[in-house]
Amino acid sequence: MDKIDFHVHVTPPEIRRDLEKYTRKEPYFALLASNPRNRFASCGEVVQELERAGFDKAVVFGFGFRDMGLCRMANDYVIAKIKEYPSKLIGFMAVSPKHGDESRREIERCADAGLRGIGELFPWGQDFRIDAPEDTRVFADVCVERGLPVLVHANEPVGHYYPGKAGTSLGELERFVGHYPDLTIIFAHWGGGFFWYELMPEIRKKCRNLYYDTAASVFLDAPRIYKAAWDLGIIERVLFGSDFPLLSLSRYEEGIKKSGISTEARNLLLGGNAERLLAPP
Ligand SMILES: [Zn+2]
Repeated sequence: MDKIDFHVHVTPPEIRRDLEKYTRKEPYFALLASNPRNRFASCGEVVQELERAGFDKAVVFGFGFRDMGLCRMANDYVIAKIKEYPSKLIGFMAVSPKHGDESRREIERCADAGLRGIGELFPWGQDFRIDAPEDTRVFADVCVERGLPVLVHANEPVGHYYPGKAGTSLGELERFVGHYPDLTIIFAHWGGGFFWYELMPEIRKKCRNLYYDTAASVFLDAPRIYKAAWDLGIIERVLFGSDFPLLSLSRYEEGIKKSGISTEARNLLLGGNAERLLAPP
């Protein structure tokens, strides 16, 4: 089994070189870039980090801009780099979903070029309504057609504020899942606690194609969250994600080791689930 990090952000060199130009046009990007913890990484740096941490592969994606032109630029970078590191990098694409046919064309172009999913969507930052089919129908239909999973940012509705913490509610996320039962969805950051509600049979029924990633968990949760997911019977739908370069992969190691989940569960979390999710149908 390969060890896979499912949540890694990469930034093309032209954006890093002229940050001010891009933050001016994109308020959400500006907000995240202003966080003193924020870092940018190239694909080369990701490959080095994988080696350092003893991981085999990473799912990488550019920033989810509002502007489709900027999404295309981020995607061109990822497309070029998966060719350079085919055994290390799995590319996802940045898309602004509410642009209808323009979004569809970009998804088709990127899927034809070898990108394997969409991520990370920021409903609040990209200014679309995740629970409104008018904003998401064309987008979701092409993702289902092409078998592309969709990684969506989610965050907990409680606790301290940090840049990027958005007002999208768990109810809005639930309606998105409900609208597209055949779409494979990954809620980032443990779905902001959404998985707890899988204890409700009516919610559980909707979640057969729903996954969660662990990105930024080191900053937010006690390590027993892994055990909680195991106890809730959802560990086979949890994907290890680091949120690199915000956090290095090795920061998670101790928490996972001490969490009390079985070796089998740990293997699913660290790559088995991701391999199954990304396997061709
Ligand atoms: Zn996120």
